[in-house]
Amino acid sequence: MVGIVIKSTGSWYEVQDAETGRIFRCRLRGKFKLNDKKITNPLAVGDRVTFHQEDQSETCIITEIGDRTNYIIRKSVHKTAHGHIVAANIDQAMLIASLTMPRTSLGFIDRFLVNAESFRIPSVVVFNKWDLLEDDERAYIEEAVGMYQSIGYKTLITSTVSNLNIDAFYELLKGKTTLLTGHSGVGKSTLVNTIAPDLDLRTDIISTFANKGKHTTTFAQMFELEPDTFIIDTPGIKELGMIELEAANISHYFPEMREKLNQCKYHNCIHVNEPGCVIKQ
Ligand code: GDP
Ligand code: ZN
Repeated sequence: MVGIVIKSTGSWYEVQDAETGRIFRCRLRGKFKLNDKKITNPLAVGDRVTFHQEDQSETCIITEIGDRTNYIIRKSVHKTAHGHIVAANIDQAMLIASLTMPRTSLGFIDRFLVNAESFRIPSVVVFNKWDLLEDDERAYIEEAVGMYQSIGYKTLITSTVSNLNIDAFYELLKGKTTLLTGHSGVGKSTLVNTIAPDLDLRTDIISTFANKGKHTTTFAQMFELEPDTFIIDTPGIKELGMIELEAANISHYFPEMREKLNQCKYHNCIHVNEPGCVIKQ
């Protein structure tokens, strides 16, 4: 069988059979080697695998791991020089932001976007809780939305209270695997709850999203909203993984700088103090 890893605890995996949608509890074949010695886990949520049922047993054995289109990696909690793969094969990363209760800063949004660029994952920023905003705050969000859209990012303004753009939110997710992130309290579980058609799934999502701060689960988990539509919840991971960039390379991850880089006359320019730098201008 072939399927997708929807949950991983490190020692066992839940794999959803691509054909039937059934979920199997799996182990990885013992002699599986890590190609990259700097990685602590061979398999992550989102990985496509080949597996089969063990003789007279409920559990399955994973025998093959498919190539990844992308993955998010962060520093291992246990071995600091090592990376831990959080999730793989992600179509888009979605940041849920809000201006108040709690506030998501533009700096935080930028770091999210830069991280997503570094993992080569398209990103979307959703500004939720529009109903709470005064006119001047709305103008501020509209300006930010215009700015992000002008450099090519998808954005959306939503409210679960006034049902603003809930259909558009659903359309953004449809047919894709989306990693959902954002500060605790911005409305991630409420938004998903509003569109998730399946009641059991709904409570499942709520319970994991609601476990904020309790450290009960730090494992990424994938939820099927409908066939071919998945969201990945990554509890406890705010910054969308780990990146270590050279100062001279950071501008490569800002689309509006990237498009002008070849016009900058300096080699290894960091576009901060260099006189006549095109990016600064
Ligand atoms: P999460 O931690 O990101 O999953 O956030 P929750 O979904 O638990 O939402 C936190 C609080 O914000 C809850 O009390 C929600 O009812 C509330 N909330 C969610 N969306 C909105 C919204 O659009 N407007 C307002 N005013 N409150 C919202
Ligand atoms: Zn420059």
